[in-house]
Amino acid sequence: MHVKRKSRQTWMFRLLACPFMMVASLNAQEHPYALSGTLVTPNGIIPHGTILIGSGAIQAVGADIVVPPGAPVVETDGVIFPGLIDTHNHLIWNVFPHWKPAAPVGDRYDWQAMSDYVAKLPLPEMVMEDRGNGCDMERFAEVKAMLGGATSVVGSYSPKNADPHANECVRGLARNLDAFSGLYSSALNSEPLAYEIFPFEMPYLKAQAIRDAMTSGKLKALLIHVSEGKDASSAREFTMLKADGFVRPGVSIIHGVALDDAAFRDMARNGVGLVWSPHSNIALYGVTANVASAKASRVTIAIAPDWSPSGSNGMTEELHYAYEWNARQKVPVFTPSDFVDMATRNPAHLAAAGDKIGTLAAGYAADLAVFPRRGDSAPMALVDAQPGSIKLVIVGGKPMLGEPALMGSLVPSKNLESLKVCSYHKSLNIRDDIGGQSFTELEEHLTKELQRLNLSLSDLADCANSH
Ligand SMILES: [Zn+2]
Repeated sequence: MHVKRKSRQTWMFRLLACPFMMVASLNAQEHPYALSGTLVTPNGIIPHGTILIGSGAIQAVGADIVVPPGAPVVETDGVIFPGLIDTHNHLIWNVFPHWKPAAPVGDRYDWQAMSDYVAKLPLPEMVMEDRGNGCDMERFAEVKAMLGGATSVVGSYSPKNADPHANECVRGLARNLDAFSGLYSSALNSEPLAYEIFPFEMPYLKAQAIRDAMTSGKLKALLIHVSEGKDASSAREFTMLKADGFVRPGVSIIHGVALDDAAFRDMARNGVGLVWSPHSNIALYGVTANVASAKASRVTIAIAPDWSPSGSNGMTEELHYAYEWNARQKVPVFTPSDFVDMATRNPAHLAAAGDKIGTLAAGYAADLAVFPRRGDSAPMALVDAQPGSIKLVIVGGKPMLGEPALMGSLVPSKNLESLKVCSYHKSLNIRDDIGGQSFTELEEHLTKELQRLNLSLSDLADCANSH
């Protein structure tokens, strides 16, 4: 570590000029520390740089920053990305095994009406929740999401009418942008982001309340499932959405499989984003959204796994799926660095949190995902990451999980639990985030509960698909 007066001034300036103070920081660590490695910053790749973390936020980033005396510097020997942002999931369902229809169908209403689907997913899900497993299902899913590099998720365990605090347990682990992000206030279920799975089933008064909240600025982002399918009725949903007054800034369409060039142009004109989930789309419908058209129209595109039953286990598996899909196109749509944007700053923007997460820069939340180096460029570490290979995940400055050596340098060993994912050893620092139990106990409990329904607990990663 070398100290230069000029650098110290830069660091002091950045600290003083820090535009972002975390209101209700998740997991802020008491003492500052630094990580070094290859940094993926908004100003480009820094082949060997350092990132200083303190009070739950990034304090400085660069090739030559000054680390305060006493703050440890840990070499990650990896590529440090902003924590990935999953804007499309249905987390508690990720305890269940994979499911897809025998053959691709026209739209989501087709498979949701199949008796095989009802027997294997919604019925067991209802029983699991009724038996009080909602929080453990959510916690399992958030650990799975973090193993895929996500530090923020959407599609969290929801409050119940009878118990508005039933989802109190979402406060730990990853940020729940639709329930408790830790970015704004300490109140549960008061985030400026709403997530709707069936927007056309919303009661009129609820739809009106959402439009009003968007107009007043109380609600800044609305992520809604629209056009999930390839048929005419799926295409028609965009017309219905427009008639309902939801083609407006702040809205993002999840799926958009049936959308045509005109719809994407309309979305771009009105500041409407697209959340793309190719793995689940292709499993269910045989096709996915026309992202080439969306990109040509300059629609902001994020990528997300949907859920693990028909999609990917997490962000990196979805990114790898999309990367391979892209390579098979006659004219590839995306570059490797487009994929980084679609997993970091684009979803941050669509979640109206682009000033807080999704970027490695001073003032942003210290949410980081570190991957082993792969291929010939930093983005390849993300799009070609092996299932389970993640080196380190940090949320709000707290090291949550990672390689034993890195975690051991950052966290007292008595707090760490061992876990093997595919062929990779991990250390977890999450006992206080999952109600005081160990993750092994949590898995054993879910396994027993699922066995009563003749189901097995889903894997944490797709180990068979190593590449
Ligand atoms: Zn969905």
